[in-house]
Amino acid sequence: MLNFTVGPVQSDEAVRMVGYEQVPYFRTAEFSEVMFENERLVKKMAGAGDGSRVVFITGSGTASMEASVMNAFDRTDKVLVVNGGSFGYRFVEMCALHGVPYTEIRLDPGQALKKDMLQPYENAGYTGFLVNVHETSTGVLYDMDMISAFCRRNRLFLVADAISSFLADPIDMERMGIGMMITGSQKALACPPGVSLIILSSEAVERVQGHKCGCMYLDLNLALKNGERGQTPFTPAVGILRQINVRLREIEAAGGAEKETAKIAALAADFRRKIRGLPLEIVSESLSNAVTPLHPVNVSAYDIFLTLKDEYEIWVCPNGGELAERIFRVGHIGALTEEDNSIIADALRDLQVRGLM
Ligand SMILES: *Cc1c(COP(=O)(O)O)cnc(C)c1O
Repeated sequence: MLNFTVGPVQSDEAVRMVGYEQVPYFRTAEFSEVMFENERLVKKMAGAGDGSRVVFITGSGTASMEASVMNAFDRTDKVLVVNGGSFGYRFVEMCALHGVPYTEIRLDPGQALKKDMLQPYENAGYTGFLVNVHETSTGVLYDMDMISAFCRRNRLFLVADAISSFLADPIDMERMGIGMMITGSQKALACPPGVSLIILSSEAVERVQGHKCGCMYLDLNLALKNGERGQTPFTPAVGILRQINVRLREIEAAGGAEKETAKIAALAADFRRKIRGLPLEIVSESLSNAVTPLHPVNVSAYDIFLTLKDEYEIWVCPNGGELAERIFRVGHIGALTEEDNSIIADALRDLQVRGLM
């Protein structure tokens, strides 16, 4: 199968080879060194400032989203949540569940967040802002410079779910004033799923230290404390953390985050060029490099997903809920090449010839 989803994505050979090895015991100085290196490289790639820290949570991206909500906010806060799709809605549900007072800014699928939509919330007593940098369900990349300026003006603590945008779109934590930034192992890091990361600015570390978390497994104070010696409070997904290490070293050796982002951007542009002229509309006011959301004009998007899977050995991402019939998404993260883009473009053209698109 050729995998064009947005996660889990294809891993390169070096990462896969680590998956073949025995999983080592981890309460050792050697494993701590791996974790220290992971932290150092992630901080560098995220543009995290002095005093920032990285915690590694064993759990998919949602675990780190929930850990962020539970450790950064409580009943005394008032947060703004951008809800432009299923991941924005997830933050809404978490605030409701954990009793964090919130206001949601709802957007239509594919709609970008504009400056005038934030206007009503200026000087209105908010303390935090939750956003998915790239709302992967609809393929909208939000304007983080605008959001960051709004948060600085209003002194809001900014939590950015960059799970699908870290390494795929330019992000700089310090420049954007991001307090907590979240990512996961199975998106542009192109490792198996199971580990998610939270990068905390020095301000976020202080904020977390002043909070009591109502969950033991997701208590970031425990994670930060253990991280000081390159360890985690509980047994982590040791194998995946070693795969992340191999991958981070590769990215670093090839020129760092900027180079990786440029590579993904070039792949996305190549794909979008190759599908020109097909009856597929790109449906997003602001595209991420990670994914292209497509609306087939004449047929069901879900049928295209099924046909590509069953007859062409190609996975694309179907959409859930009300968008299932309207939109499917083609990812550009993971170990993919321009030749792979030609294969999927040819398959789509073949569907058209067969009258299936
Ligand atoms: C993939 C993704 C997540 C995490 O989902 P999990 O299935 O829990 O890993 C969260 N937010 C965004 C924006 C994502 O793309």
